[in-house]
Amino acid sequence: MADSLEILTVGAQEAGIVIVGSGLAAVCALEAMREAGYVGQVTMIGEERQMPYDRPPLSKQVLKEPGAEARIDLRDAAIFDTPATRLRRGRCVAEIDARQRRVVLDDGAVVGYTKLLLATGSRPRVLPGLPPAGAGVFYLRTLDDAVALRGALKSATSLAVVGGGVIGLEVAATAVALGVETTVIEASPRLMSRAACPQLSEVLEEEHRSRGVRVLCGATPSAFDFSGNRHTILWSDGRTLEVDMVLVGVGVTPEFDLAERCGIKCAPEGIVVDGFGATSIPGVYAAGEVAFHYNGRVACHQRQENWHHAAAHGRHVGASMIEPGAVYQEICGYWSDQYDLNIQVFGAVTGDEHVVRGDLSARRFAVFHLAAGVVVGITAVNSPSDLRRGKKLVREGSSLEPEIESIVRA
Ligand code: NDP
Repeated sequence: MADSLEILTVGAQEAGIVIVGSGLAAVCALEAMREAGYVGQVTMIGEERQMPYDRPPLSKQVLKEPGAEARIDLRDAAIFDTPATRLRRGRCVAEIDARQRRVVLDDGAVVGYTKLLLATGSRPRVLPGLPPAGAGVFYLRTLDDAVALRGALKSATSLAVVGGGVIGLEVAATAVALGVETTVIEASPRLMSRAACPQLSEVLEEEHRSRGVRVLCGATPSAFDFSGNRHTILWSDGRTLEVDMVLVGVGVTPEFDLAERCGIKCAPEGIVVDGFGATSIPGVYAAGEVAFHYNGRVACHQRQENWHHAAAHGRHVGASMIEPGAVYQEICGYWSDQYDLNIQVFGAVTGDEHVVRGDLSARRFAVFHLAAGVVVGITAVNSPSDLRRGKKLVREGSSLEPEIESIVRA
């Protein structure tokens, strides 16, 4: 039978679990299901044609080094090809029929399920007024995006990075090192304002400027004009900037259209799930970046966009689908590499007090973030020992240790 007409199975009992998505949350969920003792069928359906791969290197090694993509597989291919596990690559789920417990793929194949996991992640926000990707406009989410961007940077002379978040700044650091004249355009008054504390934003702005990046904060463009292979970016006060290429890194939106269409409860932040990843429809779960999930530690729903959460939540929901245990209560963080700055953030960067240890100008420091005297987060730059200490304090919900306190407050 032709693949496009294949009906894998309609009997839900034979079908087992279906996972929609093949990113980190999906893969960690699969592993956790197996570790929890599930030996039944799992079908994983991934939109991308590559084997499951790790995303952090896309804005780092893959942009710099041709061939680095050969080293970013998430797991050995063998785990996706066993008698009980099947990975369908380059395929989308077009519809969920929750009543009949089956999904319909974009090629017409129908896959029944006993339980369904949605791990569909996010897609980049697009900028209105710009032509779509191609024609000198780039987004960075997938391996194909990274390879296309790497190729374009080789011959570019000038680049505008719209959005001074983690993605935009990592690309800027690589581009300027390749000799591309680079301008970062950020809407907020400071860089990485969503994910970084003011101290880190200040260091990043100084560092990028000192390496030759032009940084424009509080500078939302009002229009884009593309002609003759050049992009002109315009501001309402009459300023303009002309470049060869534009990288858009203005955040992401959760991919929950599929869930919403089948009546699963969604919020603007994503698919609403409880502390075990269960959605409003029995037998359907969601994990990772797409999930507006309940976290028992903070006793509220939230959405996290980082590698740590994708892995932890994927594992937690995968295990809960087989044998529910405790409510999800992970504390997450992220890292970023820019020039020779290794940036590590764990927990919340908000709070009412920010205690700096070390020297910002030496680019080796930590900021302990406190709320009502309790350490709720740590930002560490080139400072692994502080990171370790800070993580422990955050996990324990402690105040600053006396010895750290005496050093930082001296
Ligand atoms: P961010 O949300 O980190 O940053 C986007 C920035 O763009 C914000 O500062 C935002 O400002 C600004 N912005 C929004 N609209 C405009 C506009 N019209 N003009 C100029 N600036 C604008 O998103 P990124 O795209 O950088 O990264 C998101 C993804 O990266 C996530 O999915 C996450 O998984 C991944 N990630 C990557 C990491 C890494 O590579 N090291 C680490 C952690 C996560 P404002 O806040 O004011 O809207």
